[in-house]
Amino acid sequence: MQRARLDRFISSQLGINKREVRMILAQARVQVDGVLARDIAQIVDKFSHVTLDDAVLQQNASCYLMMNKPVGVLSATKDSQHPTVIELLDPQQGSDLHIAGRLDLNSSGLLLLTNDSYWSQRLTTPDKKVTKRYIVTLAKPLEQEMVEAFAKGMYFAFEDITTRPAKLEIVSTYVAQVDLMEGRYHQIKRMFGRFQNPVLKLHRSQIGNLILDQDLAPGQTRALSQPEVENIAQSLTSSPSP
Ligand code: URA
Repeated sequence: MQRARLDRFISSQLGINKREVRMILAQARVQVDGVLARDIAQIVDKFSHVTLDDAVLQQNASCYLMMNKPVGVLSATKDSQHPTVIELLDPQQGSDLHIAGRLDLNSSGLLLLTNDSYWSQRLTTPDKKVTKRYIVTLAKPLEQEMVEAFAKGMYFAFEDITTRPAKLEIVSTYVAQVDLMEGRYHQIKRMFGRFQNPVLKLHRSQIGNLILDQDLAPGQTRALSQPEVENIAQSLTSSPSP
């Protein structure tokens, strides 16, 4: 269950009908997150703490992690060829987590993992804008015309789309900082590919306003704080499809 009305939730948990649920609520026997609940239409989600008298009806803890993904580890739960990011976690921790926005096998940096699919969907849905920042090392020198081409957007025939305006800043001869508002397949590699300039290293340093901790070693994770979880979601705005 992602989100449900309280009456439907109780009805399915206890196998009782809606009239009986109304009675229980009217008798002030149900609490949601420690607060008395009387409204049949109150929305509960998979992480709401719901009790009836002294019985716990639901108690699932949400989990939000940042990982510094190492190069050579796959953004997937299982794979026969490569180690996966889930295998880097404690076995108890990884069991119900999924990835919110993948990185390629040879990319490194900020990866988000959660068991809250409502949160991860809001973060990755194509019509939301969340800026992702990458530090990219190229095989050949950067040129001003690339900055303009990234800002203008590039047509990808395979998907029949034009990329959203992306910000490319030249940091040094071979290093660029790129801000993307979407995540097309191998997007940065393909964009530099137009200039026959292979990407040697690609590191994600930021998603929305969340910056990868400098002292988080490759393969390590840390839990996000509640403000970080909420702020990253607040930094999203709807945008029209390109
Ligand atoms: N663009 C790429 O080409 N690869 C990534 O991992 C992320 C963005």
